[in-house]
Amino acid sequence: GSTIGMVGGGQLGRMFAIAATQMGYQVVVFCETEQEPAAQIAHRCVFGRLNNMDAVEAFANQCNVITLEFENIPEATIAKCQQYAPTYPSSDVLATAQDRLREKNTIQNAGLPVAPFAKVVDAETLATASEAVGLPLILKTARSGYDGKGQHRINTLADAENVDWSLCDEWVAEQLIAFDREVSVVVARTVDGRTSTFPIFENDHVNHILDVTMIPATLSDSVQQKAREIAIATAQALDVVGLLCVEMFVRSDAEGNEEVIINEVAPRPHNSGHLTIEACHTSQFEQHVRAVCGLPLGNTDMICGGAAMANLLGDVWGDETHTPPWDRALDVDAVKLHLYGKVHPKPGRKMGHLTCVGESRDTVVEKVREARRRLTSSSSV
Ligand code: ATP
Ligand code: MG
Ligand code: MG
Repeated sequence: GSTIGMVGGGQLGRMFAIAATQMGYQVVVFCETEQEPAAQIAHRCVFGRLNNMDAVEAFANQCNVITLEFENIPEATIAKCQQYAPTYPSSDVLATAQDRLREKNTIQNAGLPVAPFAKVVDAETLATASEAVGLPLILKTARSGYDGKGQHRINTLADAENVDWSLCDEWVAEQLIAFDREVSVVVARTVDGRTSTFPIFENDHVNHILDVTMIPATLSDSVQQKAREIAIATAQALDVVGLLCVEMFVRSDAEGNEEVIINEVAPRPHNSGHLTIEACHTSQFEQHVRAVCGLPLGNTDMICGGAAMANLLGDVWGDETHTPPWDRALDVDAVKLHLYGKVHPKPGRKMGHLTCVGESRDTVVEKVREARRRLTSSSSV
């Protein structure tokens, strides 16, 4: 079929639609409002609450295959989609990825490495959990958190005083990992079980939000191989079709051996993969199209020596009346601007990103950082 349905209207759906359109597909977006990034460029849209089953039916009816761009979609919505068209990832995958406890249990049961964790529901169970996983720990809501929202670092049990337990019925306490590096691996998997991984992305976070991604990762070949194998095994354990991003911590032990630990997964394109648009033969968005449409998976090799991506959060705008000086950023050699068409910049909100590719990683990292600085510094160039 030639019509792909996309549930969700965010920037990941937008960049997916751009890739799919380039390949000749029609994209129907199902989201709430016409202001959403993907809705602005879709061939057609169905607007409605994602839990409105009449809207789901009106959408799914038009599609030959259906996919999604964020995991907090009601499971029943995706289950309904499955009655109309092949839907990837499935409602089962979604249910797992929506629930940190279920996700961690599934990964652990598959023999894959996760930080020690325990289920928590209140201050009392947190005290018990802290004995099992140790202090300090990170307390996370089991559902609906993103960009570090709903997370608390617990150094001593007294830190739990600020926790609003009404936020969520279930929480996860996990050991704080003193990592050396954070990396992510995006793996594509087809319905007949073919897989392909992208280069390992090395990520810097600021305030729990991804800030800069760089490739190639500065890890030994054996650790990179290990990370790819873990990503593929995770996609197989969850039975993901489409894309899966596996976020990982890399930690060195006393002998300098590097250990890879899974943080969390996302069954969709990922912010850390945005640089593949310019840096690889096949972008993560094209690969997502190929995977859900049953096409051959594309070559994911880099077409440059190094690439870097810097996120643009609403903070760059300062306030809604201010337009950042894009010309200054674009005057940095080889820097590319991506804006998602979001109408209301807010602090911490992902509005766009900058990418730079070139011969050396260090140079392109410096260039995207410089381009982003130019958007906020008041001095003239
Ligand atoms: P998103 O889905 O946007 O990636 P999230 O809210 O699901 O974010 P996590 O990925 O769980 O949050 O955590 C955000 C960041 O916080 C991680 O990328 C890492 O930098 C830090 N972090 C989370 N858990 C741990 C941990 N157990 N040990 C050390 N650092 C952690
Ligand atoms: Mg997350
Ligand atoms: Mg994360």
